[in-house]
Amino acid sequence: MVNSNESDVLVIGGGICGVATAFHLAQLGQRVTVLERGEIASEASGVNAGGLGGLGWGNNPDLQSYLTAGSFEIFKTLQLDMGYDIEFMAPGGLQGIHTAEQWDWVRDRVHNYQMHGYHAELLTSRETRAMEPETSESLPGFMYLPKRGKANPTKATMAFSDAAAALGAIIKTGHNVEGMTQQQDGSWQVQTNQGEFRAKTLVLAVGAWSRPVGDMLGIEIPIAPIKGQMWATAPVPPSIFHLSGSMESPFDWSQQSPDNNFPPEITHHGDTRVTRHLYGGQSRNGEIIFGGDRQLVGYDYTPDATGIEVNRGHASEIIPLVGKLPIVRTWAGIMPFSMDGKPIIGKIPQFDNLFVLTGLASSGFGRGPMSGKLLADYIHTGHPAPVLSEVDPARCVIFK
Ligand SMILES: Cc1cc2nc3c(=O)[nH]c(=O)nc-3n(C[C@H](O)[C@H](O)[C@H](O)COP(=O)(O)OP(=O)(O)OC[C@H]3O[C@@H](n4cnc5c(N)ncnc54)[C@H](O)[C@@H]3O)c2cc1C
Repeated sequence: MVNSNESDVLVIGGGICGVATAFHLAQLGQRVTVLERGEIASEASGVNAGGLGGLGWGNNPDLQSYLTAGSFEIFKTLQLDMGYDIEFMAPGGLQGIHTAEQWDWVRDRVHNYQMHGYHAELLTSRETRAMEPETSESLPGFMYLPKRGKANPTKATMAFSDAAAALGAIIKTGHNVEGMTQQQDGSWQVQTNQGEFRAKTLVLAVGAWSRPVGDMLGIEIPIAPIKGQMWATAPVPPSIFHLSGSMESPFDWSQQSPDNNFPPEITHHGDTRVTRHLYGGQSRNGEIIFGGDRQLVGYDYTPDATGIEVNRGHASEIIPLVGKLPIVRTWAGIMPFSMDGKPIIGKIPQFDNLFVLTGLASSGFGRGPMSGKLLADYIHTGHPAPVLSEVDPARCVIFK
């Protein structure tokens, strides 16, 4: 009889990255077990804004095109072909431009995207209001990204877990991994609070906890836990149809020189705000949800009231309606940011049969499914897809 604690692959972490990897491995016929210390989607993957996608595939797809456009197709398949209601929709996204300087910068950026076959347009505020009536008429304009969409984060992450289980994967929640030992034959033994598990191959998909889990193996996986926070209004009638955000932060980040003490594209250096970041929209249940702050403050889940007010003011500049609606709830989650801004996906060079998928930062919900597929293909075939070369863990994972 096969021991139920034995599999081909053990995946640690039941966020979008772990369950998407498990689903694709199970599709390839691998026996997979997922070990999650809480519930599926109990961390970042369950509390995010559900924003998906990017610019499409482009003429010559790079890793970012694969992760965004590829994941978009996988979400679509879950909703339209596999029968999971994950609230997937593809309405496109609009990002407000606040100044003439930003307008010039966005115009060049849109032109560059279009030259490379990506989908982006520059709209005046009048053109935007024809598509999204509540947007402000006093902004110079908007960047429109028609290939953006949204899904319910908890439902989608659960759907990957259920789809993996339907293919035979074993999903163990409430299993906190406390140690990992490599056997002489190269296989892995994993200790949890609920017993031992064994597999030939081990995958670390533990998001913002990559550093403490790496510590158990004596390696440093350089991931910073970054707090993201959001707020929601009470349900209101359908009023905001696109994903909505601002170009202020991408513009500011493009002008700032890197600070080696912080990952790129965060909103605060210490207590000092370096930009305002904004994204959100309206959920199927009618709530209007916005957020954007990204702060390096450890594993802290307390929303910062000042930051929420700044974010709400920013949202009101884009969509004045939201400034009139009271905030009824706020929350925070912890995102995995790498120090060079790129994901970390592939084989950990220090050990045999050890893989990692992390560092998807603030867009890991929208990029997790294809990351999981690429990693599953790598494990199954023994060969990484060429697009994974830029995110090879060998560039940054070291023995401590
Ligand atoms: C407020 C907020 C808004 C966001 N908005 C968006 C958005 O709109 N679009 C988008 O694409 N992304 C968004 N993100 C980012 C996205 O949520 C993350 O990038 C993504 O969920 C990371 O997935 P993950 O699987 O790597 O990590 P997680 O979802 O954090 O999963 C890691 C799992 O590992 C488990 N784990 C850790 N240690 C152990 C252990 N020792 N044993 C067992 N299990 C362990 C944890 O319990 C956790 O469930 C947002 C994030 C936040 C916080």
